[in-house]
Amino acid sequence: MLLPLAYYGSPSLRKKCVPVPSIDEELKQFISDMHETMLAHRGIGLAASQVHRLINLFITQVPIETAEDKENEGIFRVFLNPKILSVSSELHRRGEGCLSIPKVYGEVERPIAIKVEFTNLEGKKCVEEFEGLEARCILHENDHINGVLFIDRMKGRERQLLEPLLKQIKKKYHPKE
Ligand SMILES: [Zn+2]
Repeated sequence: MLLPLAYYGSPSLRKKCVPVPSIDEELKQFISDMHETMLAHRGIGLAASQVHRLINLFITQVPIETAEDKENEGIFRVFLNPKILSVSSELHRRGEGCLSIPKVYGEVERPIAIKVEFTNLEGKKCVEEFEGLEARCILHENDHINGVLFIDRMKGRERQLLEPLLKQIKKKYHPKE
């Protein structure tokens, strides 16, 4: 089932989420619906808060970029109650977008490698390292569960230039405000 997305201007996107209490059938169905929704919108990551559920949960499926520049589908991953344990000091700037902020893109500087602790769907606590686009995607989604958007990480003139577009999105999806 496709879930309705929260768009820029929605209070859901600015809330700090709460821990996932337990893994049950309902949660598994919700995650499956999140996956369907993410793929339908051609996203590579989706946080629960982007579909109006304020819990510490996000999913990713980042295409693997190979040397031949061919892309494959990537691995579907579920992160419950994630915690970023450490980040590399080396940073990288790259363009980002967000399903909640349609047609807005901007370059964001983020660490190139991270170590993350999370609970998987089987309820097992895991610690894994990620790098490149997958690390970036995880950091972007982890920001969502803290009420932070990628545009908050853009600075100065680049961020200012987005303002008219952001106003349009707010007006389109939240016309009564
Ligand atoms: Zn996003």
